[in-house]
Amino acid sequence: MKRDIIIIGAGIMGLTTAYELLKAGRKVTIIDENDITDSTSFGNAGLLSAFDKGPLANPGIVFNTLKLMIKGESPVNIHPTLDTKIYKWLWKFVNSANKDRLKRTLALFEKYGHISNDAYEKMQNIDGLDLDFQRRGMLSVFTEQKSYDKKLLDYAIKNDDVFEIIEKNKIKEFIPCITNDVKGAIHFKRNTHFDPKRTMLELKRYLKENGAEFILNERISHIKYSDSKIESISSALNTYEADTYVISTGYQTLLADKVNQNLVMTPAKGYSITFKMPKELQPVTSTLFSDLFIVMTPRRDDVRITSKLEIGSTNHQIVKKQIESIKENFKKYTVPFIMEDIVEWTGFRPLTPNDMPLIGRDEKYKNLIYGMGLGWLGMTFGPALASILKDLIVNDLENKNSDDILLFSGFYQGKY
Ligand SMILES: Cc1cc2nc3c(=O)[nH]c(=O)nc-3n(C[C@H](O)[C@H](O)[C@H](O)COP(=O)(O)OP(=O)(O)OC[C@H]3O[C@@H](n4cnc5c(N)ncnc54)[C@H](O)[C@@H]3O)c2cc1C
Repeated sequence: MKRDIIIIGAGIMGLTTAYELLKAGRKVTIIDENDITDSTSFGNAGLLSAFDKGPLANPGIVFNTLKLMIKGESPVNIHPTLDTKIYKWLWKFVNSANKDRLKRTLALFEKYGHISNDAYEKMQNIDGLDLDFQRRGMLSVFTEQKSYDKKLLDYAIKNDDVFEIIEKNKIKEFIPCITNDVKGAIHFKRNTHFDPKRTMLELKRYLKENGAEFILNERISHIKYSDSKIESISSALNTYEADTYVISTGYQTLLADKVNQNLVMTPAKGYSITFKMPKELQPVTSTLFSDLFIVMTPRRDDVRITSKLEIGSTNHQIVKKQIESIKENFKKYTVPFIMEDIVEWTGFRPLTPNDMPLIGRDEKYKNLIYGMGLGWLGMTFGPALASILKDLIVNDLENKNSDDILLFSGFYQGKY
């Protein structure tokens, strides 16, 4: 039986692409090696932060991170490896982190951030998906005077629709558990947040109810191709044929490697700790502890903190030392309270060197589409990217006919 569209990988990229394609009247089959309960798209912070939060490839980060790494205090680490791919990635990353590129990236983030926010809101308000999506902005809290002063220079001209500088004695109104040791805070009003696990489960439910086919617990390991197209894909158990194939396998590049597509991408390991805390101490909105690289998001029944970015690590273990170091940093700036029902988690960001996703049609195998490289902001841009892929598939476009692909895809960023 030949299928219409097969999507391999059911993270946020795969599920939002399926959602868009179903809405466009197409038939979708989603294959995943697991059962859609615990990918990177589940355990992340759920902060949808396209606005006023610098990209990873920004000039300040390279310098500050190197400084902290030398002191052994950095939340960002690079795992030494013999794999030369990582050095290519690092080279591109350092070259991408310049002021011109930063301006361009921020503008693209704004454009696609609005599209994603509106899409999530529609899923919640019109299709009835319970995402716990909240438009309450993001509080950026600074624990270092120097970085706060520097940030204030960027936000010297008042713009009440976009941000508000929060006086020190008012920070507790946003995050009651904070101590007086923080230096200051800015409330960025356009960012949003949601519960990623809830979102993924709701998307899965909606897709099932609306006719998507799910094939779970099957790892696709082979691709059969002719000169110009993919003929079939196979797991150890079955072979599947379709008119169009979408690869959205997160940080795993095995299938792209099979068609000789050398994606410049690296796994970047991170952690989350989810727990219950006294209601009166919970933050009102998502909070970025800017200098600590910690995000805290309130959810309906609990809160989550996330941190760490270990470049090149593929170790699936939860390393206790890392969890303890996150807690230790967090506790330096919060009043004592008991974390209850703690759930620790680790996952891998599919990180590109320039914050651009690797999306688009394969130049050789025309029925193959990539939805890869969503990076550290994959939840933020999932629906916007899915809509771009849907246009490509439904209108049978080549990459050169899609302004969005040319603008936003990492395949078209010149030397960056
Ligand atoms: C600690 C942490 C915090 C984060 N916080 C945020 C945040 O606040 N905001 C934000 O926007 N983003 C955040 N991110 C990033 C975001 O989570 C990712 O960008 C996003 O989840 C990636 O989605 P994906 O669909 O590409 O991959 P995944 O969610 O990894 O999904 C890929 C799927 O493909 C399947 N798969 C892989 N290979 C195969 C195969 N061969 N056959 C079949 N199935 C396969 C896997 O089982 C998996 O289900 C965070 C990430 C981390 C780690």
